Amino acid sequence: MFRFYVAQARFDAFLVADRLNQAGIRAHVFNQHASSIVGEVPPDVAQPQVWLEREADRERAEILLARLSEEAARSGNTHCAACGEDSPSNFDLCWNCGRQLA
Ligand SMILES: [Zn+2]
Repeated sequence: MFRFYVAQARFDAFLVADRLNQAGIRAHVFNQHASSIVGEVPPDVAQPQVWLEREADRERAEILLARLSEEAARSGNTHCAACGEDSPSNFDLCWNCGRQLA
């Protein structure tokens, strides 16, 4: 396991991990689960993170990540009125609570 990506926002970490998993790359989001990796990360790292299981996936993961950031730069964010989280504006439903986004 190694840390692949430190996200700026929670949806960002989940979006990246989702895409990686869809591509067959085993990825995990940490920070809610920070206690399970105590000792492996510095205690001052508080941002959501994506960790990969296999070093061999790193190159493909980086290509996917680059593609994702291009998409994100084009689309911007939509603010959910129900829970207050931001979702990428190409999402139909809030990633966090599932509410329809306007
Ligand atoms: Zn929401």
